[in-house]
Amino acid sequence: MVRGEGDPLTGDVAATEAYDGLGATWELLARSYGRDSLDGQGMLLAATVTTGATTTNAFWDAGRWVFGDGDGVYFRRFTASLDVIAHELGHGLVQYTSGLTYVGQPGALNESVCDVLGALVRQRLLGQDAGSADWLIGADLLTDRVQGVALRSMAAPGTAYDDPALGQDPQPAHMDDYVDLPHDADNDNGGVHINSGIPNKAFHLFATGLGGRAWERAGQVWYDTLATRGRIARDVDFATFAAATAESARERYADAPEVLDALLSAWDGVGLPVS
Ligand SMILES: [Zn+2]
Repeated sequence: MVRGEGDPLTGDVAATEAYDGLGATWELLARSYGRDSLDGQGMLLAATVTTGATTTNAFWDAGRWVFGDGDGVYFRRFTASLDVIAHELGHGLVQYTSGLTYVGQPGALNESVCDVLGALVRQRLLGQDAGSADWLIGADLLTDRVQGVALRSMAAPGTAYDDPALGQDPQPAHMDDYVDLPHDADNDNGGVHINSGIPNKAFHLFATGLGGRAWERAGQVWYDTLATRGRIARDVDFATFAAATAESARERYADAPEVLDALLSAWDGVGLPVS
């Protein structure tokens, strides 16, 4: 262990970024939604960094998050983007709440709510409102060599990169462009990192339509939907999730009808009208 809670800086930039990123994620959950860590019971957040391997990924492994060093060619160290750290922790939050299965539409929702958490943690730390945020995921971990701005764009899915080596960002922003793929590992479990563009865009439309700080009312509606027991099933599809967010909005913001209005208009905007 190089740095425990409250310990001084180590001089390892990845360790500093991971420490700060774990803390910023805990802060959002605790201060904004009253949740003590991912399990709601103060679970320790632990990360491994500077592994020495050219891992171009970040993942959960045996009780801790591992953030790869990147390959130095296309990817820098994965702790460079706070939203990517928070995204990975989001998978822990999903595990302890709705348990969304990692395939097809529930899998894409799993990916999307993690991007939402990533964006909210970053925007909260930077004090940005929804209208001035860039809504990019992983903007800081691409090298200059990559022709692109980030791994994903929640504001404009499908436009994050277009690169000779990495290909083109495959994310749709609307149900008309939903990518139907076989539900196997060779096809991203049915496009979980692809079709997540649709609920990502819905959240972006919701938060910007509502205005102000996205982690407050818009984020609260997503959090309530995810964390309220029984509100969504593990295998929920996009349309049922959309309807569940409307239920959350009606319940939490009964005296602020503009929240539900912005939400319904957002889902309309991605081709998932809530009846
Ligand atoms: Zn993920």
